Amino acid sequence: METNPSNVRKILFIDDDRLQQRLVAQMVKNFRSNPFEIEEALTYDVGLKSLLSDRFAACLLDYRLGDRDGLALLAEARAAGCNTPVVFLTADENEEVDIAATEAGAADYLVKGALTPRLLERSLRYALKLGDTLAQLRRLAQRDELTGLYNRREFKRFLEEEWDRSIRFNRPFTLVMCDIDHFKKINDTYGHQVGDDVLRHVSSLLGGQVRTVDRIARYGGEEFALMMVETDKMSAVQMMQRLGGLLLETPCIVPDKNLTVKVTMSAGVATSIEDAQSATELVAAADKALYAAKTGGRNRVKTADGREFLYTTA
Ligand code: GH3
Ligand code: MG
Ligand code: MG
Repeated sequence: METNPSNVRKILFIDDDRLQQRLVAQMVKNFRSNPFEIEEALTYDVGLKSLLSDRFAACLLDYRLGDRDGLALLAEARAAGCNTPVVFLTADENEEVDIAATEAGAADYLVKGALTPRLLERSLRYALKLGDTLAQLRRLAQRDELTGLYNRREFKRFLEEEWDRSIRFNRPFTLVMCDIDHFKKINDTYGHQVGDDVLRHVSSLLGGQVRTVDRIARYGGEEFALMMVETDKMSAVQMMQRLGGLLLETPCIVPDKNLTVKVTMSAGVATSIEDAQSATELVAAADKALYAAKTGGRNRVKTADGREFLYTTA
């Protein structure tokens, strides 16, 4: 089996020239400090597929790849949401390609003839650093600081995308809005810090249960939004009955205060396309169902078509 100690970062090298592949592999072996492992791809298609697999800390990308070029590959990868930092390699110095590579989002541009192990190592080091910094920035922009869940803006983006997909393929998906019951009382009784602990507790409990394809966000103060893709209303209701039951059985424990805080939540469920004509309407429908769950006694699920369900405990 392949072993990959965590300090060894994987670099993808996309180049159709076997000799160049060998030269670069040799250079990487001679790096002074940074341990890297190179994986080679000899064609455009294999290279793109590997790059999109998200397994690499950085990518070295040749400009000429058969009858296609690395710029097109980079553009395709970026359009598909790939954020791996890419260093361009070209046979000749060419300012136009250099500028185009920067525009396409390359971290650096190196001329093969002038390549040395030190130059390559330095360029990769900078590319990795840039990649880490950009990942941090993305995290700040997309995530809620307290819980680590997606923020409302990012969630709305997922929702619009999923709405379009749902219409195009005529496949349902379900949105659930959840809100912690009487959360203000928790703050008032135990203080804001414990309130924050409860928010983190609920977040990790919900976040730990959803499938990787689903999306979960902190939608507001003590309100969470869950997007369940390819899920009809009753499957989502059953999932929520289980989640709500789990929350009932799992109070928030605050060790340094020797506290156990019981929490419940209410949930509203709305499904594309039956409950709304747009993503915005879907949010409104789930919100309305959530409100009905609140006025109906809290600690329960309501659907946009007016049905009510209680949580199930083991
Ligand atoms: P309901 O059952 O009707 O939802 O009642 P509630 O008390 O949960 O709802 P309400 O909207 O009256 O109060 C929500 C409270 O959540 C008010 C606000 O101060 C608190 N809150 C919002 N964001 C945070 C946060 O980040 N941390 C803490 N500790 N409290 C927060
Ligand atoms: Mg080539
Ligand atoms: Mg609340």
